[in-house]
Amino acid sequence: MMRRPLLLLLVAVLLTTFVEEPAGPDGYRTVAVEREAVGADSAAAETASSSAITGALVSLAGLPPVSGSLEQSGGSLVFRPADEGAMAVFPLFRTYGPSGATRHPAVSLLEVANGREDPIFLFHLGAAVVETSVPGILGELVAEPARVEELGTPWTTGTLTLAAPGDLPAAYRIAQELYLSRYADSVFSVFGRPERPIGVVSARGERAGRLGEYLAGRDSIAVSPSYITSRAQLRHTLAHELAHRWLRDHPQSAEALKAAMAPIRDPLRYGFRDPDEQLAESLAFAVHFLDASRRSGRPAGPALLESYERLVPGTRNAASLLLTFPAYEQHPLAREAWALKGPN
Ligand SMILES: [Zn+2]
Repeated sequence: MMRRPLLLLLVAVLLTTFVEEPAGPDGYRTVAVEREAVGADSAAAETASSSAITGALVSLAGLPPVSGSLEQSGGSLVFRPADEGAMAVFPLFRTYGPSGATRHPAVSLLEVANGREDPIFLFHLGAAVVETSVPGILGELVAEPARVEELGTPWTTGTLTLAAPGDLPAAYRIAQELYLSRYADSVFSVFGRPERPIGVVSARGERAGRLGEYLAGRDSIAVSPSYITSRAQLRHTLAHELAHRWLRDHPQSAEALKAAMAPIRDPLRYGFRDPDEQLAESLAFAVHFLDASRRSGRPAGPALLESYERLVPGTRNAASLLLTFPAYEQHPLAREAWALKGPN
């Protein structure tokens, strides 16, 4: 549970980001008072403790969100996924200048969702979006950026690409493994199987920074293992490119989904101001959501879907549509597809 003054302050910070005026120092004084009050209230202190482990949904580098826990460690925040995937470490601030003396928070508030009674906060943290109802250190740094001076040393883990740049044999081996994987079978059963095996993005496409491509003329999908940094990203790339293929073959469904799709609000999210990319991304997000809700075994319906929808609007309708496909006949949500519908 979050203390109301901090909530109101975060909402105020969020509102000021939409106008030209930066949040003035007056707003931050409220938090200084609030922090003194924490000591007198042990329950509040416990939830506000910056080293507390809190539940969060984290979208890494544009990928669909995964649930896990966040814990502060020095000047960084460590995310441990609940199910599968590697831990991710996010420095809470960056330093600039030759001496590295000036610290800048690496966190900003993206959105406060779900109403003020039970707020959910979305933060940009480096290349991730963190969604949590317990903003902790993230909320504190947004409300009072000067607090980065109190943080310990930031650290992170190295990021390797799946194949070394220029190692074409390794790139082809990874593409081949993906093609033969159970995951590929499962998305082929949803969107159809391309004519050719999965290839590798051309050097020109790689230079353009493409993680994947659908080549309609050849009916072929290619991926970039020398740019892709995780198996999750590799799988998501395949789902996204296959969604392009399916949308091309189903123009009426594509138009219907697009007509009902609200725009992406996050300027850093893939598909921002690009409805065709957003549409493919919403279908790939829907595939991920339906996988996650099948795997977890716990009720993972409307509330979790809402989190996907916040990141990529259109995911809800895409998931409802996919549940009518034969591939999802046995899905636990198939019989309650109506429950996925939003308030409208
Ligand atoms: Zn695309």
